Amino acid sequence: MDPFQYQNSELFCEDVSVSALAEEFGTPLWVYSKAKLVHEYQQIQNAFAAVDPVICYSVKANSNLSLLKVLSEQGCSFDVVSGGELYRVREAGADTTKVAFAGVGKTDDEIRFALESDILMFNVESEPELDAISRIAGEMGKVAPVALRLNPDVDGKTHEKTTTGRKGNKFGMDIERHNELADKVLADPNLELRGIHLHIGSPINTTDPYRQAAEKALSVVRELRSKGHQTNWINLGGGFGLNYKNDEAPPASVYAEVIVPIIQEAECRLALEPGRSIAGNSGILVSEVIFVKYEGGKRFVIQDAAMTDLIRPAMYDSFHKLWPVNPSVPAPEDFEVEIENCSLADIVGPVCESSDYFAKGRSFPNVNRGDLLATFSAGAYGTVMSSNYNSRPRGTEVLVDGNEYKIIRRRESYEDLVAHERV
Ligand SMILES: *Cc1c(COP(=O)(O)O)cnc(C)c1O
Repeated sequence: MDPFQYQNSELFCEDVSVSALAEEFGTPLWVYSKAKLVHEYQQIQNAFAAVDPVICYSVKANSNLSLLKVLSEQGCSFDVVSGGELYRVREAGADTTKVAFAGVGKTDDEIRFALESDILMFNVESEPELDAISRIAGEMGKVAPVALRLNPDVDGKTHEKTTTGRKGNKFGMDIERHNELADKVLADPNLELRGIHLHIGSPINTTDPYRQAAEKALSVVRELRSKGHQTNWINLGGGFGLNYKNDEAPPASVYAEVIVPIIQEAECRLALEPGRSIAGNSGILVSEVIFVKYEGGKRFVIQDAAMTDLIRPAMYDSFHKLWPVNPSVPAPEDFEVEIENCSLADIVGPVCESSDYFAKGRSFPNVNRGDLLATFSAGAYGTVMSSNYNSRPRGTEVLVDGNEYKIIRRRESYEDLVAHERV
């Protein structure tokens, strides 16, 4: 299901013309499809239905309140990594009793806020964190639900900057410490061990790392129960793949085939924390060509969106499909090969950094000043990682629903840029 389709050389989001949106709201412009967001959530929910999963959408992938509200209305829950994200979940009107709270550096204020919100569980990443949660729960007269984050030492075979489940990175704890801390929880009346948490990294386009992680979780759960814990939850984190290029990511059902039998064997509830796979292909970033220049034997297409809007190419060398909104050449099946009637171009932003590019050496049609471009798969880790570097105001975000649309975040003004400063 792809809501972004060309009809007669015109890109649409559902039933709305993208160039009409750009005309009305200007660029850079984020365009999201409600139908796609809901569809991707439901795909996961349906794939894992046999174990009645709790899908905790990872708020860090895209935290816009309207998107959280859409997901919440579908019955989706949330995974947060900060007090700010928990605040957003509450502002979106969501039920916080199914929220998972991850992150290696939770502050006392954040822990207190989460306890006040009666969350499902803290994904605890270290002993000092466990001690802090116990102390604060004690002060508040509460019992804190925790899951210890196990570093399964599984290679997710993903980018160095996004792998999290291997020995030697900062996330979670190894099995020895996990078991020590579980003993500590058992002896602590302020804490209750609700389950185990693992998150391998992202994006993971194969199922084997999940099978390995789930099997580790199963053996740990058995051991915990033999010690007297009432452990009932396995949280396998997020990291499901996204089709950035073609069909490189397996559908949710393929992950489910591997994971569901192990969860059934463990007789546990399953929590998942997908972010990218729900939001990623629900959004595009629309930009306008400012100039085209030829230098050093190359063609540079300079657009008004930049690494300040979408940092993934600069940060992870990520590939995003990119094509004109009103193309003179039909969009190809494969964007990585040489395309007929196209020539090579670097598509870059105006920021004063060589890493400010969206595509390098890409086969691309002729475009001119004023033409609109669409960068696809921009719904996850786009706006949330944006900045005001170079004092660039962030663009408008629009949510499309059939033939209707509305602003879900207005464009920042120059006044917004200095609003928090004092002289
Ligand atoms: C980032 C993160 C996720 C979400 O990962 P996606 O690739 O967006 O699915 C889930 N859980 C934890 C703990 C994370 O840090």
